[in-house]
Amino acid sequence: MTDNMKKVVKFGGSSLADAGQFAKVKEIIMADSARRFVVPSAPGKRFSGDTKVTDLLLNSQAASSKGEDWESIFSIAEDRYRGIIADLGLSVSLEDEFAVIRENLKKGCTKDYAASRGEYLNGILLADYLGYEFIDAASVVFFDKDGNFDAAKTNRVMGHVLESCENAVIPGFFGSGVNGEVITFSRGGSDITGAIVARAVCADVYENWTDVSGFLMADPRIVENPKPINIITYRELRELAYMGASVLHEDAIFPVKMAGIPINIKNTNDPSASGTRIVATTEQYQNEYIITGIAGKKGFSLINIEKDMMNSELGFGMNVLKVLCDMGISFEHLPSGIDTMSVVVAESAVKGKERDILSRISALVSPDNIDIEKGIALIAVVGRGMIRTQGTACRVFDSLAREGVNIRMIDQGSSELNIIIGVEEKDFDAAIRTIYNEFVS
Ligand code: ASP
Repeated sequence: MTDNMKKVVKFGGSSLADAGQFAKVKEIIMADSARRFVVPSAPGKRFSGDTKVTDLLLNSQAASSKGEDWESIFSIAEDRYRGIIADLGLSVSLEDEFAVIRENLKKGCTKDYAASRGEYLNGILLADYLGYEFIDAASVVFFDKDGNFDAAKTNRVMGHVLESCENAVIPGFFGSGVNGEVITFSRGGSDITGAIVARAVCADVYENWTDVSGFLMADPRIVENPKPINIITYRELRELAYMGASVLHEDAIFPVKMAGIPINIKNTNDPSASGTRIVATTEQYQNEYIITGIAGKKGFSLINIEKDMMNSELGFGMNVLKVLCDMGISFEHLPSGIDTMSVVVAESAVKGKERDILSRISALVSPDNIDIEKGIALIAVVGRGMIRTQGTACRVFDSLAREGVNIRMIDQGSSELNIIIGVEEKDFDAAIRTIYNEFVS
Protein backbone atom coordinates (compact mmCIF):
# COMPACT_ATOMS: atom_id res chain seq x y z
CA MET A 1 0.00 0.00 0.00
CA THR A 2 1.24 3.51 -0.76
CA ASP A 3 0.69 6.22 1.84
CA ASN A 4 -1.87 8.21 -0.08
CA MET A 5 -4.03 5.34 -1.13
CA LYS A 6 -7.72 5.62 -0.31
CA LYS A 7 -10.10 2.71 -0.07
CA VAL A 8 -13.82 2.76 0.53
CA VAL A 9 -14.99 -0.40 2.25
CA LYS A 10 -18.63 -1.44 2.32
CA PHE A 11 -19.75 -4.26 4.61
CA GLY A 12 -22.98 -6.13 3.97
CA GLY A 13 -25.53 -7.17 6.58
CA SER A 14 -24.15 -10.65 7.15
CA SER A 15 -20.69 -9.12 7.76
CA LEU A 16 -22.19 -7.10 10.64
CA ALA A 17 -24.80 -9.50 11.93
CA ASP A 18 -23.34 -9.92 15.44
CA ALA A 19 -20.38 -9.03 17.67
CA GLY A 20 -18.21 -11.79 16.20
CA GLN A 21 -18.71 -10.38 12.72
CA PHE A 22 -18.04 -6.83 13.96
CA ALA A 23 -14.69 -8.07 15.32
CA LYS A 24 -13.76 -9.52 11.91
CA VAL A 25 -14.72 -6.25 10.24
CA LYS A 26 -12.54 -4.24 12.61
CA GLU A 27 -9.61 -6.54 12.00
CA ILE A 28 -9.98 -6.13 8.23
CA ILE A 29 -10.19 -2.33 8.48
CA MET A 30 -7.28 -2.01 10.88
CA ALA A 31 -5.09 -4.24 8.69
CA ASP A 32 -4.88 -1.52 6.04
CA SER A 33 -4.69 2.19 6.85
CA ALA A 34 -5.98 3.00 3.36
CA ARG A 35 -9.40 1.69 4.46
CA ARG A 36 -10.49 5.14 5.58
CA PHE A 37 -14.16 5.32 4.60
CA VAL A 38 -16.53 2.65 5.81
CA VAL A 39 -20.10 2.07 4.63
CA PRO A 40 -22.09 -0.40 6.75
CA SER A 41 -25.41 -2.15 6.07
CA ALA A 42 -27.81 -2.95 8.90
CA PRO A 43 -27.26 -6.19 10.84
CA GLY A 44 -28.36 -9.06 8.64
CA LYS A 45 -29.25 -12.67 9.30
CA ARG A 46 -27.12 -14.58 11.81
CA PHE A 47 -28.51 -17.94 10.76
CA SER A 48 -31.05 -19.15 8.25
CA GLY A 49 -34.52 -18.31 9.51
CA ASP A 50 -33.24 -15.21 11.34
CA THR A 51 -34.76 -11.81 10.45
CA LYS A 52 -32.70 -8.90 9.11
CA VAL A 53 -32.94 -5.72 11.19
CA THR A 54 -34.21 -3.87 8.07
CA ASP A 55 -37.14 -6.27 7.89
CA LEU A 56 -37.85 -5.90 11.61
CA LEU A 57 -38.01 -2.13 11.12
CA LEU A 58 -40.24 -2.38 8.06
CA ASN A 59 -42.50 -4.80 9.93
CA SER A 60 -42.67 -2.39 12.89
CA GLN A 61 -43.69 0.45 10.58
CA ALA A 62 -46.30 -1.70 8.83
CA ALA A 63 -47.77 -2.84 12.16
CA SER A 64 -47.86 0.72 13.49
CA SER A 65 -49.62 2.01 10.36
CA LYS A 66 -52.32 -0.64 10.85
CA GLY A 67 -52.71 0.14 14.52
CA GLU A 68 -51.26 -3.25 15.46
CA ASP A 69 -48.61 -4.07 18.07
CA TRP A 70 -45.35 -2.71 16.64
CA GLU A 71 -43.46 -2.27 19.90
CA SER A 72 -42.71 -5.94 20.40
CA ILE A 73 -41.23 -6.15 16.88
CA PHE A 74 -39.19 -2.98 17.34
CA SER A 75 -37.82 -4.18 20.65
CA ILE A 76 -36.32 -7.23 18.87
CA ALA A 77 -34.37 -4.81 16.66
CA GLU A 78 -33.28 -2.79 19.71
CA ASP A 79 -32.07 -5.97 21.38
CA ARG A 80 -29.94 -6.85 18.37
CA TYR A 81 -27.97 -3.62 18.86
CA ARG A 82 -27.90 -3.91 22.65
CA GLY A 83 -26.52 -7.43 22.26
CA ILE A 84 -23.72 -6.29 19.96
CA ILE A 85 -22.82 -3.40 22.29
CA ALA A 86 -22.71 -5.70 25.32
CA ASP A 87 -20.74 -8.44 23.57
CA LEU A 88 -18.14 -5.97 22.31
CA GLY A 89 -17.97 -4.28 25.71
CA LEU A 90 -18.65 -0.83 24.22
CA SER A 91 -19.73 2.15 26.27
CA VAL A 92 -21.75 3.77 23.48
CA SER A 93 -25.50 3.94 24.08
CA LEU A 94 -28.21 3.98 21.43
CA GLU A 95 -31.05 4.44 23.93
CA ASP A 96 -31.68 8.09 22.98
CA GLU A 97 -31.81 7.12 19.32
CA PHE A 98 -34.22 4.29 20.07
CA ALA A 99 -36.51 6.74 21.87
CA VAL A 100 -36.59 9.09 18.86
CA ILE A 101 -37.35 6.22 16.47
CA ARG A 102 -40.09 4.90 18.79
CA GLU A 103 -41.65 8.32 18.88
CA ASN A 104 -41.61 8.54 15.08
CA LEU A 105 -43.00 5.04 14.65
CA LYS A 106 -45.82 5.95 17.02
CA LYS A 107 -46.57 9.16 15.12
CA GLY A 108 -46.66 7.32 11.79
CA CYS A 109 -43.33 7.63 9.97
CA THR A 110 -42.61 6.62 6.38
CA LYS A 111 -41.37 3.18 5.35
CA ASP A 112 -38.14 4.71 4.12
CA TYR A 113 -37.46 6.39 7.44
CA ALA A 114 -38.11 3.17 9.36
CA ALA A 115 -35.98 1.02 7.03
CA SER A 116 -33.09 3.49 7.05
CA ARG A 117 -32.68 3.38 10.83
CA GLY A 118 -31.00 -0.02 10.60
CA GLU A 119 -27.99 1.43 8.80
CA TYR A 120 -28.14 4.65 10.82
CA LEU A 121 -27.87 2.88 14.18
CA ASN A 122 -25.28 0.42 12.90
CA GLY A 123 -23.20 3.33 11.59
CA ILE A 124 -23.14 5.01 15.01
CA LEU A 125 -22.19 1.73 16.64
CA LEU A 126 -19.46 0.85 14.15
CA ALA A 127 -17.97 4.36 14.21
CA ASP A 128 -17.66 4.11 18.00
CA TYR A 129 -16.09 0.66 17.78
CA LEU A 130 -13.54 1.76 15.17
CA GLY A 131 -12.89 5.20 16.66
CA TYR A 132 -13.94 6.75 13.32
CA GLU A 133 -16.08 9.84 12.77
CA PHE A 134 -19.80 9.18 12.12
CA ILE A 135 -21.34 11.07 9.21
CA ASP A 136 -25.11 10.83 8.79
CA ALA A 137 -25.88 9.83 5.19
CA ALA A 138 -28.85 12.22 5.25
CA SER A 139 -26.36 15.11 5.28
CA VAL A 140 -24.29 13.91 2.31
CA VAL A 141 -26.56 11.80 0.04
CA PHE A 142 -29.36 13.66 -1.75
CA PHE A 143 -32.48 12.91 -3.75
CA ASP A 144 -34.24 15.44 -6.00
CA LYS A 145 -37.84 16.64 -5.88
CA ASP A 146 -38.99 13.57 -7.82
CA GLY A 147 -37.26 11.24 -5.39
CA ASN A 148 -34.46 10.37 -7.82
CA PHE A 149 -30.87 10.20 -6.66
CA ASP A 150 -29.15 13.58 -7.18
CA ALA A 151 -25.66 12.50 -8.22
CA ALA A 152 -24.25 15.98 -8.87
CA LYS A 153 -25.26 17.52 -5.55
CA THR A 154 -24.26 14.40 -3.61
CA ASN A 155 -20.86 14.24 -5.23
CA ARG A 156 -20.22 17.92 -4.54
CA VAL A 157 -21.36 18.00 -0.91
CA MET A 158 -20.01 14.60 0.04
CA GLY A 159 -16.67 15.28 -1.64
CA HIS A 160 -16.39 18.52 0.33
CA VAL A 161 -17.37 16.99 3.70
CA LEU A 162 -15.11 13.96 3.37
CA GLU A 163 -12.14 16.00 2.21
CA SER A 164 -11.55 17.15 5.75
CA CYS A 165 -12.06 13.69 7.24
CA GLU A 166 -9.28 11.29 7.99
CA ASN A 167 -11.59 8.35 8.68
CA ALA A 168 -15.36 8.12 8.63
CA VAL A 169 -18.31 5.77 8.80
CA ILE A 170 -21.18 6.72 6.48
CA PRO A 171 -24.24 4.47 6.82
CA GLY A 172 -25.46 2.92 3.57
CA PHE A 173 -28.87 2.72 1.91
CA PHE A 174 -30.34 6.19 2.50
CA GLY A 175 -30.08 9.91 2.03
CA SER A 176 -32.43 12.88 2.21
CA GLY A 177 -34.98 14.48 -0.10
CA VAL A 178 -35.51 18.17 -0.85
CA ASN A 179 -37.49 18.69 2.36
CA GLY A 180 -34.99 16.83 4.50
CA GLU A 181 -37.12 13.68 4.61
CA VAL A 182 -35.30 10.35 4.63
CA ILE A 183 -35.33 8.45 1.33
CA THR A 184 -33.82 5.01 0.77
CA PHE A 185 -32.46 3.31 -2.32
CA SER A 186 -34.06 0.00 -3.27
CA ARG A 187 -33.25 -3.05 -1.14
CA GLY A 188 -29.57 -3.90 -1.03
CA GLY A 189 -28.85 -0.23 -1.66
CA SER A 190 -25.87 0.10 0.67
CA ASP A 191 -23.83 -1.16 -2.28
CA ILE A 192 -24.87 2.03 -4.07
CA THR A 193 -23.83 4.25 -1.17
CA GLY A 194 -20.42 2.56 -1.14
CA ALA A 195 -19.99 3.32 -4.84
CA ILE A 196 -21.11 6.93 -4.33
CA VAL A 197 -18.62 7.45 -1.49
CA ALA A 198 -15.86 5.88 -3.60
CA ARG A 199 -16.58 8.33 -6.38
CA ALA A 200 -16.82 11.35 -4.05
CA VAL A 201 -13.43 10.71 -2.41
CA CYS A 202 -11.79 9.55 -5.68
CA ALA A 203 -10.93 6.23 -4.08
CA ASP A 204 -8.29 3.96 -5.56
CA VAL A 205 -10.57 1.01 -5.02
CA TYR A 206 -14.07 0.26 -3.75
CA GLU A 207 -13.97 -2.89 -1.63
CA ASN A 208 -17.35 -4.55 -1.26
CA TRP A 209 -17.16 -7.06 1.62
CA THR A 210 -19.79 -9.76 1.68
CA ASP A 211 -20.16 -13.43 2.60
CA VAL A 212 -18.92 -15.01 -0.62
CA SER A 213 -15.50 -14.83 -2.26
CA GLY A 214 -16.69 -12.95 -5.32
CA PHE A 215 -18.50 -14.08 -8.43
CA LEU A 216 -18.51 -17.61 -9.74
CA MET A 217 -18.46 -18.53 -13.42
CA ALA A 218 -21.85 -20.22 -13.10
CA ASP A 219 -24.59 -20.79 -10.55
CA PRO A 220 -23.30 -23.36 -8.01
CA ARG A 221 -26.81 -24.80 -7.73
CA ILE A 222 -26.45 -25.90 -11.35
CA VAL A 223 -22.73 -26.45 -11.89
CA GLU A 224 -20.75 -28.29 -9.24
CA ASN A 225 -17.91 -26.20 -7.81
CA PRO A 226 -17.78 -23.54 -10.51
CA LYS A 227 -14.52 -21.63 -10.77
CA PRO A 228 -14.36 -18.11 -9.33
CA ILE A 229 -14.13 -15.13 -11.65
CA ASN A 230 -10.94 -13.28 -10.75
CA ILE A 231 -11.33 -10.34 -13.11
CA ILE A 232 -14.41 -9.06 -14.88
CA THR A 233 -15.18 -5.85 -16.73
CA TYR A 234 -18.12 -3.62 -15.79
CA ARG A 235 -19.80 -4.45 -19.09
CA GLU A 236 -19.46 -8.19 -18.67
CA LEU A 237 -20.82 -7.88 -15.17
CA ARG A 238 -23.81 -5.94 -16.38
CA GLU A 239 -24.59 -8.66 -18.93
CA LEU A 240 -24.36 -11.38 -16.28
CA ALA A 241 -26.25 -9.38 -13.66
CA TYR A 242 -29.05 -8.69 -16.13
CA MET A 243 -29.36 -12.43 -16.59
CA GLY A 244 -29.77 -13.05 -12.91
CA ALA A 245 -26.25 -13.40 -11.49
CA SER A 246 -26.18 -11.25 -8.39
CA VAL A 247 -23.79 -10.39 -5.63
CA LEU A 248 -23.86 -6.65 -6.01
CA HIS A 249 -26.74 -4.20 -6.44
CA GLU A 250 -26.86 -3.42 -10.17
CA ASP A 251 -26.99 0.35 -9.69
CA ALA A 252 -23.77 0.23 -7.69
CA ILE A 253 -21.78 -0.11 -10.88
CA PHE A 254 -22.54 3.27 -12.40
CA PRO A 255 -20.90 5.74 -9.97
CA VAL A 256 -17.60 3.87 -9.88
CA LYS A 257 -17.64 3.03 -13.57
CA MET A 258 -18.01 6.71 -14.32
CA ALA A 259 -14.95 7.46 -12.21
CA GLY A 260 -12.97 4.44 -13.43
CA ILE A 261 -12.62 3.04 -9.91
CA PRO A 262 -12.21 -0.74 -9.67
CA ILE A 263 -14.46 -2.73 -7.33
CA ASN A 264 -13.14 -5.65 -5.32
CA ILE A 265 -15.70 -8.15 -4.07
CA LYS A 266 -14.22 -9.68 -0.91
CA ASN A 267 -15.30 -12.20 1.71
CA THR A 268 -15.40 -11.01 5.35
CA ASN A 269 -15.24 -14.62 6.48
CA ASP A 270 -12.22 -15.41 4.27
CA PRO A 271 -10.32 -12.14 3.82
CA SER A 272 -7.27 -13.73 2.23
CA ALA A 273 -9.29 -15.10 -0.72
CA SER A 274 -8.59 -12.88 -3.71
CA GLY A 275 -12.27 -12.35 -4.57
CA THR A 276 -13.42 -10.75 -7.82
CA ARG A 277 -12.00 -7.54 -9.24
CA ILE A 278 -14.32 -5.49 -11.44
CA VAL A 279 -12.44 -3.18 -13.79
CA ALA A 280 -12.99 -0.95 -16.81
CA THR A 281 -10.62 -2.79 -19.12
CA THR A 282 -8.61 -5.91 -18.67
CA GLU A 283 -5.80 -5.15 -21.08
CA GLN A 284 -3.21 -5.72 -18.41
CA TYR A 285 -4.70 -9.01 -17.27
CA GLN A 286 -4.32 -12.39 -18.91
CA ASN A 287 -7.58 -14.21 -19.49
CA GLU A 288 -7.58 -17.83 -18.38
CA TYR A 289 -10.74 -18.84 -20.23
CA ILE A 290 -12.44 -17.59 -23.38
CA ILE A 291 -15.66 -17.11 -21.49
CA THR A 292 -15.99 -15.15 -18.26
CA GLY A 293 -19.28 -16.50 -17.02
CA ILE A 294 -22.65 -18.04 -17.81
CA ALA A 295 -25.95 -16.90 -16.37
CA GLY A 296 -29.56 -17.46 -17.27
CA LYS A 297 -33.17 -16.87 -16.45
CA LYS A 298 -36.40 -18.75 -17.00
CA GLY A 299 -39.81 -17.27 -17.67
CA PHE A 300 -39.71 -15.92 -21.22
CA SER A 301 -42.04 -16.25 -24.19
CA LEU A 302 -41.27 -16.07 -27.90
CA ILE A 303 -43.67 -14.34 -30.26
CA ASN A 304 -42.81 -16.02 -33.57
CA ILE A 305 -43.92 -14.29 -36.77
CA GLU A 306 -43.50 -15.53 -40.33
CA LYS A 307 -44.34 -13.80 -43.57
CA ASP A 308 -43.02 -14.28 -47.09
CA MET A 309 -41.04 -11.28 -48.31
CA MET A 310 -41.03 -9.80 -44.81
CA ASN A 311 -37.55 -8.43 -45.49
CA SER A 312 -38.80 -6.02 -48.14
CA GLU A 313 -41.89 -4.84 -46.30
CA LEU A 314 -41.13 -1.39 -44.98
CA GLY A 315 -42.10 -0.86 -41.33
CA PHE A 316 -42.92 -4.51 -40.59
CA GLY A 317 -40.78 -4.74 -37.45
CA MET A 318 -41.78 -1.28 -36.37
CA ASN A 319 -45.46 -2.20 -36.53
CA VAL A 320 -44.95 -5.37 -34.50
CA LEU A 321 -43.08 -3.43 -31.85
CA LYS A 322 -45.68 -0.68 -31.93
CA VAL A 323 -48.37 -3.17 -30.89
CA LEU A 324 -46.24 -4.25 -27.95
CA CYS A 325 -45.41 -0.66 -27.07
CA ASP A 326 -49.09 0.35 -27.17
CA MET A 327 -49.84 -2.55 -24.83
CA GLY A 328 -47.08 -1.48 -22.43
CA ILE A 329 -44.96 -4.59 -23.09
CA SER A 330 -41.21 -4.14 -23.41
CA PHE A 331 -39.17 -6.65 -25.35
CA GLU A 332 -35.88 -8.28 -24.36
CA HIS A 333 -34.45 -9.55 -27.66
CA LEU A 334 -35.32 -9.44 -31.30
CA PRO A 335 -33.73 -12.24 -33.31
CA SER A 336 -34.81 -12.19 -36.96
CA GLY A 337 -34.38 -14.01 -40.27
CA ILE A 338 -35.30 -13.02 -43.82
CA ASP A 339 -38.95 -13.97 -43.54
CA THR A 340 -39.19 -14.56 -39.82
CA MET A 341 -38.89 -12.53 -36.73
CA SER A 342 -39.20 -13.46 -33.08
CA VAL A 343 -39.72 -11.17 -30.18
CA VAL A 344 -38.56 -12.35 -26.79
CA VAL A 345 -40.71 -11.02 -23.97
CA ALA A 346 -41.04 -11.79 -20.28
CA GLU A 347 -43.81 -14.32 -19.74
CA SER A 348 -45.18 -12.22 -16.87
CA ALA A 349 -45.56 -9.23 -19.22
CA VAL A 350 -47.76 -11.07 -21.73
CA LYS A 351 -49.73 -13.28 -19.33
CA GLY A 352 -53.45 -13.05 -20.05
CA LYS A 353 -52.84 -10.79 -23.06
CA GLU A 354 -51.80 -13.48 -25.54
CA ARG A 355 -54.94 -13.45 -27.67
CA ASP A 356 -55.01 -9.70 -27.78
CA ILE A 357 -51.36 -9.57 -28.89
CA LEU A 358 -51.92 -12.13 -31.64
CA SER A 359 -55.00 -10.43 -33.02
CA ARG A 360 -53.53 -6.93 -32.91
CA ILE A 361 -50.30 -7.96 -34.64
CA SER A 362 -52.26 -10.00 -37.20
CA ALA A 363 -54.50 -7.04 -37.98
CA LEU A 364 -51.57 -4.71 -38.48
CA VAL A 365 -49.04 -6.80 -40.46
CA SER A 366 -51.06 -9.79 -41.79
CA PRO A 367 -48.46 -12.48 -41.13
CA ASP A 368 -48.59 -15.95 -42.72
CA ASN A 369 -48.05 -17.50 -39.32
CA ILE A 370 -47.88 -16.20 -35.80
CA ASP A 371 -47.74 -17.95 -32.45
CA ILE A 372 -46.59 -17.46 -28.91
CA GLU A 373 -44.33 -20.06 -27.38
CA LYS A 374 -44.10 -20.15 -23.59
CA GLY A 375 -41.59 -21.75 -21.24
CA ILE A 376 -38.41 -20.34 -22.74
CA ALA A 377 -35.23 -19.88 -20.74
CA LEU A 378 -32.49 -17.51 -21.84
CA ILE A 379 -28.84 -18.26 -21.24
CA ALA A 380 -26.11 -15.66 -21.65
CA VAL A 381 -22.58 -16.81 -22.36
CA VAL A 382 -20.49 -13.77 -21.59
CA GLY A 383 -16.83 -13.11 -22.19
CA ARG A 384 -14.52 -10.42 -23.48
CA GLY A 385 -12.33 -13.31 -24.69
CA MET A 386 -14.95 -14.15 -27.35
CA ILE A 387 -14.29 -10.92 -29.23
CA ARG A 388 -11.00 -12.09 -30.66
CA THR A 389 -11.56 -15.82 -30.66
CA GLN A 390 -13.01 -17.56 -33.67
CA GLY A 391 -15.33 -20.52 -33.31
CA THR A 392 -16.75 -19.71 -29.88
CA ALA A 393 -20.36 -19.75 -31.06
CA CYS A 394 -19.71 -22.99 -32.90
CA ARG A 395 -18.40 -24.61 -29.70
CA VAL A 396 -21.46 -23.41 -27.78
CA PHE A 397 -23.87 -24.84 -30.35
CA ASP A 398 -21.91 -28.09 -30.83
CA SER A 399 -21.89 -28.76 -27.13
CA LEU A 400 -25.64 -28.18 -26.91
CA ALA A 401 -26.25 -30.46 -29.89
CA ARG A 402 -24.19 -33.23 -28.29
CA GLU A 403 -26.28 -32.85 -25.15
CA GLY A 404 -29.50 -33.07 -27.20
CA VAL A 405 -30.60 -29.55 -26.29
CA ASN A 406 -32.87 -27.92 -28.84
CA ILE A 407 -31.90 -24.28 -29.38
CA ARG A 408 -35.00 -22.14 -29.83
CA MET A 409 -33.30 -18.81 -30.40
CA ILE A 410 -29.84 -17.31 -30.86
CA ASP A 411 -28.85 -13.70 -30.44
CA GLN A 412 -25.34 -12.34 -30.44
CA GLY A 413 -24.98 -8.79 -29.15
CA SER A 414 -23.21 -6.45 -31.55
CA SER A 415 -20.43 -6.04 -29.02
CA GLU A 416 -19.59 -9.75 -29.44
CA LEU A 417 -19.36 -9.79 -25.68
CA ASN A 418 -22.18 -12.25 -25.28
CA ILE A 419 -24.16 -14.95 -27.00
CA ILE A 420 -27.74 -15.33 -25.85
CA ILE A 421 -29.41 -18.66 -26.39
CA GLY A 422 -33.06 -19.47 -25.87
CA VAL A 423 -33.86 -23.05 -24.82
CA GLU A 424 -36.89 -24.80 -23.43
CA GLU A 425 -37.02 -24.46 -19.67
CA LYS A 426 -36.66 -28.21 -19.15
CA ASP A 427 -33.23 -28.04 -20.83
CA PHE A 428 -32.01 -25.05 -18.81
CA ASP A 429 -29.71 -26.77 -16.29
CA ALA A 430 -28.30 -29.26 -18.79
CA ALA A 431 -27.55 -26.46 -21.25
CA ILE A 432 -25.64 -24.41 -18.68
CA ARG A 433 -23.67 -27.41 -17.49
CA THR A 434 -22.68 -28.50 -20.95
CA ILE A 435 -21.53 -25.02 -22.01
CA TYR A 436 -19.55 -24.66 -18.80
CA ASN A 437 -17.86 -28.01 -19.30
CA GLU A 438 -17.04 -27.17 -22.90
CA PHE A 439 -15.07 -24.07 -21.93
CA VAL A 440 -13.89 -24.65 -18.41
CA SER A 441 -13.32 -28.28 -17.53
N1 ASP B 1 -30.35 -3.11 4.81
C1 ASP B 1 -30.88 -2.89 3.51
C2 ASP B 1 -31.51 -4.16 2.99
O1 ASP B 1 -31.65 -5.11 3.73
C3 ASP B 1 -29.88 -2.34 2.56
C4 ASP B 1 -28.63 -3.16 2.39
O2 ASP B 1 -28.40 -4.13 3.11
O3 ASP B 1 -27.85 -2.85 1.50
O4 ASP B 1 -31.92 -4.20 1.86
